[in-house]
Order: sequence, then structure tokens, then C-alpha cells
Amino acid sequence: MNEREPPEVLAAIGGVINAGRHAALRGWVPATSGNFSVRIDAGHIAITRSGVDKGALERQDILLQALLEPLLPGSSAEAELHVRMYRDHPALGAISHVHSPHAAAIGRAFVDRGSLELFGWELGKAFAGVTSHEEPLLVPIFDNSQDIRSLADRIGARLAAPEPEAKLRAPGYLLAGHGLYAWGKTPSETAKHLEAFDALFQQQLLLGRYRP
Ligand SMILES: [Zn+2]
Repeated sequence: MNEREPPEVLAAIGGVINAGRHAALRGWVPATSGNFSVRIDAGHIAITRSGVDKGALERQDILLQALLEPLLPGSSAEAELHVRMYRDHPALGAISHVHSPHAAAIGRAFVDRGSLELFGWELGKAFAGVTSHEEPLLVPIFDNSQDIRSLADRIGARLAAPEPEAKLRAPGYLLAGHGLYAWGKTPSETAKHLEAFDALFQQQLLLGRYRP
């Protein structure tokens, strides 16, 4: 790590490294999948580069990306999805993208509905701003695509508009058969949201298997 880097840059890099380790320990980023980012300031983020083990990130695996400039060499194609979210949502401080098996599976199971509706789960209260298990929470689901630019457009358009019946939207979305994007105001809030999502997806999948 370069000691001459400003404290806010070092803090963001540390946040990305921790997020990768947290996800790898839980089996959410198999085979170098996933990517993680933390906001440095209004115009910059720290983000993982492509093709590295997210459980063993080092300084050289983290890129310092300007939000209004083209993706840096070595970026993941999916870095575009991070950059667009930070541009569209100034309060957003950290984004984690994981390929957890529960997220990949539940996205495929519910993709035809366009959303997963979470209802009746106490753990829904883990999301910032949710105060009751009786509040239905929508997790938008998008068809997976290798055309990241058009995917970013579709995601941006949906998240810019309210959901039908003004239902609450959880702080994340699913890509069917692929994984989960989740965010929060800080790296620790994002980590908490990721854990809640994964447990809720497991609960929903179990319910589907056992409900008569
Ligand atoms: Zn991915």
C-alpha cells in the first residue's frame, strides 16, 4: 500500500479489501467472480479489477476510477454498473456484487415476475429504513446480459421510478442466474445488507420447497 495516498483513498481501498474477504469467507465469489467498490468522494471510487481472487485482494488489485471518465484498463466489464449507480445516487457509499448460489438461483426462479417480493420475514428489518416484517419489500430482477451498457440503462431507468403501489424497494437487485448487487451508505451497511439478502433468499427458497 502506498503511504502517500490520502487517508480517504486508503480508507476506500481498505473497505474494498474487507468487502472481498467478507464475501469470499461466505462462498459468495467463486472462481474470481464478484466485484466490490467504495466511494472516495463525489467523483471517484475504489473498485476491484477484473480476474482476481476477491478473498485475497492487494493494493494493486484495486483501481481508482473517476466516475465521469472511461473505465480504466483492467476493469471488469461490470464496473460500468457500479459507476452508473454512484452517478445516479449521490448518497450511495459502497456497492458489493456477489455470485452467491442463493442469489443466482432465486433470480432465475422469479425472473418472469420481474421482482422478488419479500414479505413476513423479520430479517427484512436489517435493511435501512424498514421497521416491520409486515412491510413488503421488492427486489428487482433483470435478465442477465453480456451487453452491460444496455443492462445499465435498464437498471437505471427502473431504479429512477417508483415501484407499483409505491412498494418499498430493497437496497439491491438481482441478475437472473448471475448474482446480486447490493449497496448502502457505508461499507459496513452494505455488508449488513448483503448478509440479510443472502439469508432472506435462503429462507424464501426453503419456503418454496416446503410450503404445501
Ligand atoms: Zn457478476
